[in-house]
Amino acid sequence: MTNNLDTLIEKYLNDIIEIRRDIHQYPEIGMEEVRTSALVKAQLEKLGLEVQDKIGKMGVVGLLRGKKPGKTILLRADMDCLPMDELTDLPFKSKVPGMMHACGHDVHTAILLGAAKVLSELKDEIKGNIKFVFQPAEEANPTGGARYMIEDGVLENPKVDAAVALHVWNLPLGKVGIRTSTMMAQSDRIFITVKGKSSHASQPHNGVDAIVTAGHIITALQTVISRNVDPMESAVVTIGTIHGGSRYNVTCDKVVLEGTVRTFNPEISAIMPTRIKAIAENVAMALGAECDVEYVEGYSATVNDEELATKFIGYFKDAIGEQNVVIPSQPASGGEDFSEFTKLVPSVFYWLGMESEMNKGKTTVHNPNLVVDEGCIPVGIKTLVSGAIDFLNE
Ligand code: ZN
Repeated sequence: MTNNLDTLIEKYLNDIIEIRRDIHQYPEIGMEEVRTSALVKAQLEKLGLEVQDKIGKMGVVGLLRGKKPGKTILLRADMDCLPMDELTDLPFKSKVPGMMHACGHDVHTAILLGAAKVLSELKDEIKGNIKFVFQPAEEANPTGGARYMIEDGVLENPKVDAAVALHVWNLPLGKVGIRTSTMMAQSDRIFITVKGKSSHASQPHNGVDAIVTAGHIITALQTVISRNVDPMESAVVTIGTIHGGSRYNVTCDKVVLEGTVRTFNPEISAIMPTRIKAIAENVAMALGAECDVEYVEGYSATVNDEELATKFIGYFKDAIGEQNVVIPSQPASGGEDFSEFTKLVPSVFYWLGMESEMNKGKTTVHNPNLVVDEGCIPVGIKTLVSGAIDFLNE
């Protein structure tokens, strides 16, 4: 099987790299993946799959039915880009100003198309069904595309027994990273508006200084991490923007703070809104100001099913060798809306190594200099394909 698989992947690899570069040149932001979804749809139809588009607005689903009946596995890729100018000098760099595939979703889409091509050839050996799910708007936290696809029934007809997705990652090329628990953080947003009263800067006693109040709130918020979170657990509170004031000699009457909260354990996620509101509102009150706190819960933590992930670790070791399957000791603090799937069906999310000599220092995602080593593509296809077959045929 493995030799056969390598030959099949080799057969399609040039096509898949070409598709990846094509998608890379025409990046589309979340819910505007018109060209990308049309390309995906055409590719899936060419394979003779049952194809549906406009699932979750811009999503595309291809269904492959194996020769014998059995379980159903869902394989998911995301298709959206980020709003930034690409600064690489790749020959296939983005042709769209202000848009770039800076999170590797072009690579994910290409890999899943590759898996669809290979699995279509192996149809007669497959017991059960494979759903290829191409999702829009992964980057649109808190309203990512996964939930819309689920609302449109992507987990039904046939009912999905397991879901799998991968993400390009800062691991050496050839390796994958997979844990049997949390992979990615819950990612929430906070909006804090501090309201004071302006006065002449030389007469602060006649006003309420929103800037001084905001300073105390920012500092006090860090005590949520140091005093409210179990030292054996971890969490992040970051204020990313601060806006306020209009003139150097006027006491500021309004400051707006925006930030993010990352957690890995649902019990800790649950205490965050109340602790943050209590600190911001009461610090403001103590200093004579008012404070509005809006806490927006974003993507949940992406948590692998322990039993399923353990099986996949075995499948991956068989497919790419034991030495290439890494079990990272910690999850990552980024958010990911594959969590919408992991909440509803046993799921596996894993990291695909993409670092090598060719892209040294350029492997940070959400960065305009990101370069992905395309050598990760066959590894991505091989792990998805062998994972799906082994799961269905066990
Ligand atoms: Zn991403």
